[in-house]
Formats: sequence, structure tokens, C-alpha cells
Amino acid sequence: MEMTFAMIKPNGVKSGLIGRILDRYTSARLSVVGLKLHQMTSEEARGFYAEHVNKPFFPELEAYMTKGPSVMIALAGENAIAAVRAINGATNPAKAEPGTLRYDFAPSMTENVVHSSDSPASAEREVAFWFKKEDLYEYEAASNKACT
Ligand code: ADP
Ligand code: MG
Repeated sequence: MEMTFAMIKPNGVKSGLIGRILDRYTSARLSVVGLKLHQMTSEEARGFYAEHVNKPFFPELEAYMTKGPSVMIALAGENAIAAVRAINGATNPAKAEPGTLRYDFAPSMTENVVHSSDSPASAEREVAFWFKKEDLYEYEAASNKACT
């Protein structure tokens, strides 16, 4: 089992896509092991996106990420990191494959609706950035469609 961090960014929340996006993840048999709605502060944006702080697009990214609440999600499952990156699609929605969340819902490169960790090291850092240990749970997603 692997854990990763995913996020429904502010335009996804505002557009009423929380349910549809969570459904894509849980339909891939990933377990939601941590979940909260939270509006990112500028300080948090600079910490979370530390690798991008000096990039030319950062001011636009910071304005986007702080303008409304996001859904913070810890997901667990087999190959969770790669699985969620595949479900989300390419960073640039113009290059995203049909059937991915960014192909379906992202209006632009900046406002690309979802986030997910890109490596085991970033997954560990990002889950810990948003969740205390006691707010994470452990269970295996049921393999059948019926409620158990
Ligand atoms: P990803 O979210 O796919 O891991 P990056 O880590 O490269 O992509 O970038 C983080 C976020 O910054 C992107 O999801 C997107 O919102 C924004 N971003 C990245 N590159 C650009 C760019 N060239 N122009 C505008 N926004 C960008
Ligand atoms: Mg990234």
C-alpha cells in the first residue's frame, strides 16, 4: 500500500465537482484516508509550492490557490502515486488524455482543477504538510460495489 496527497483546487470546489472527482479516485479502488476542506493562505502556498516560488507563474498560482477553499485528500492504495497522477492527467490540460480529470474539467494551465504528489518523497512531505498523524486512517477499500 502506498499513500499520496491529492487536492481539488478552488475552481473544482466552486464548480461543484467535489463528488465527481472523489468518485474517480474511489472508483479506482483508492481509499480516502484523510479529508478536509481548507482555504490555503499565502504562507501555506509558498511552503507547499516551495519548488515553484521563484517561477514566473508563481504569483498567478498563489492568487488562484488562495482564492477559495480546496479539498485536501490523503489517498492510499496500490501504486497510489502513479494511479492518481494518471487519473488527473497532464499539467497542461491541452495535453491531457481524454478521460482524465484535467481533460474533462480544467480550463487552463494555471487553473488545472487538481493536484497530486509526483514521487514517494513529495507524497510523504505533502501528506504531512496538510494532515496530522491522528487525522489519517487506515482501511482497505472494499472490492465490491455494494456497501458492506
Ligand atoms: P503538477 O501540478 O502537474 O505536478 P507542477 O508541479 O509543474 O505541475 O506545477 C504546479 C502547479 O503550478 C500546476 O498544477 C499549475 O497549477 C501551475 N503551473 C505549472 N506550470 C505552469 C505554467 N507554465 N503556467 C501557469 N501555471 C503553471
Ligand atoms: Mg507538481
